[in-house]
Amino acid sequence: MSAESSSEEPELCVRDVFAMDTFMHLKAYGEHADTTLGKAIERILLLEDKLSVKSEQSDTWAINHSDGKAVSVSKDTMTLLRKGIEIGEKTNGALDITLYPVITAWGFTMDKQQIPDTQLLADRMSLVDYTGVLTDGDLVSVPDGMQVDFGALAKGYTSDCVIEILKKNDVNSALVNLGGNVHALGSKPDGSFWKVGVQNPFFPSEQICTLDISDMAVITSGNYERYFTGSDGKKYWHIIDPKDGYPADNGLVSVTIIGKSGLVSDALSTALFVLGTEEAIRYWQEEEGFEMILVTDDAKLYYTEGLTEFIQISKAWNANVIFRE
Ligand code: FAD
Ligand code: MG
Repeated sequence: MSAESSSEEPELCVRDVFAMDTFMHLKAYGEHADTTLGKAIERILLLEDKLSVKSEQSDTWAINHSDGKAVSVSKDTMTLLRKGIEIGEKTNGALDITLYPVITAWGFTMDKQQIPDTQLLADRMSLVDYTGVLTDGDLVSVPDGMQVDFGALAKGYTSDCVIEILKKNDVNSALVNLGGNVHALGSKPDGSFWKVGVQNPFFPSEQICTLDISDMAVITSGNYERYFTGSDGKKYWHIIDPKDGYPADNGLVSVTIIGKSGLVSDALSTALFVLGTEEAIRYWQEEEGFEMILVTDDAKLYYTEGLTEFIQISKAWNANVIFRE
């Protein structure tokens, strides 16, 4: 993901920020890039304030401490709620924005992780059901005890918002990397594609492939960054199967979604990880508007046929192409 500069290239501006527990790297070209990236970072920090489950000033906090009463939330939060519910419905509940009580039982997003006691897990699972989230205008209500969290989709939405700000301010060449969620605006200043690498889930310092992209988000969910080893010696990761409350173990170790919308791509990366190989393939075959790369736990790589011209597979990987039936 590097763009070499030449004397004819417009000015390059680069900014880093740590937000949402993630290192974010933004780069943009052009005379407005510097001030615009400043605005983009302000927007990222505002979104963090609105969405963070831990901040008492956030919409998420207001929903999670509403004692069953309706609360008014911002447009951003409503967008995430509605899209989260919609993709929950489309994936048969594989994405569930009300999993937070279970996520904290495992200790994810907290200082210490552990395998939860089965009774505690059962109690927490009884609070999970995204169909209990009701929206009406700017109001949202959840049953007492239910807690929402946007960890599975907020970074994708954030990159959409950043790209929108860049466009509005006449920047037309940029690459935004929000902790591995990559989103490209336009192409490189010389008109060529941005090159984005996809990590090898078994050796994250290596890549399984690179992709040529422009105006596209590339978003990966995997089991190799946020995990812990339990007292039983097994690996437990942060993507949870809402069917049983345990880390989703349906044959996949990473799912990369390539699509125009960061929000949808982020939500799908998590949901299709939960669904597993066969159902993820079926979902893609029945839906339009995105491409994907799957890596299975027995080290097989699959990619959808729309990527054929844009993907370069790394040596040592044999790829299988997924076709529409
Ligand atoms: P993704 O696959 O996109 O998402 C996985 C995350 O979604 C999990 O971590 C969990 O939170 C949730 N999830 C798991 N399974 C499901 C499912 N089936 N359906 C729906 N959701 C699911 N983390 C911290 O440790 N400390 C912080 O202070 C902190 N602050 C944050 C503030 C904000 C505003 C946001 C959006 C996130 C914050 N996080 C924090 C969370 C951290 O960034 C997440 O680990 C991250 O969002 C996970 O993203 P991912 O791309 O790795 O994985
Ligand atoms: Mg996601």
